[in-house]
Amino acid sequence: MAANQTTEYGIDVKTLIMASMEAKKYAYCPYSKFPVGAALQTENDAIITGCNVENACNNLGICAERNAMAKAVSEGHTRFKAIAIASNLDKEPITPCGGCRQFMREFGVKWTVYMTRTDGTCEAMTVGQLLPESFGPDNVKN
Ligand SMILES: [Zn+2]
Repeated sequence: MAANQTTEYGIDVKTLIMASMEAKKYAYCPYSKFPVGAALQTENDAIITGCNVENACNNLGICAERNAMAKAVSEGHTRFKAIAIASNLDKEPITPCGGCRQFMREFGVKWTVYMTRTDGTCEAMTVGQLLPESFGPDNVKN
């Protein structure tokens, strides 16, 4: 997919991708040295970014995607249209880890994940495609 293509949602993918690349600059990754940025497009077209934040206690680190989603929820957003993810991978697109796929799924299966390369090109898949047959809020009945 070309970076200058527009989404079906009216915001151009390039804007979202550029925001994810900008967010990557703030990555705190002294251990992995693998910076990642994410830019989340909310239902009302706000863009909320996140970066990975590592910790000396390894398992306390958080991915860029989950960071962006947690930021968004803490600012009152729970409905999302898309997320762009950026890293320093140039041949293969950056793909979200399993934990982030499950975290995305909490907010629906029909929104789009743009997985970019450093040149701004990307692959697009829905959350449902990235995590088929998933466990979600409807499976938890109280
Ligand atoms: Zn992740």
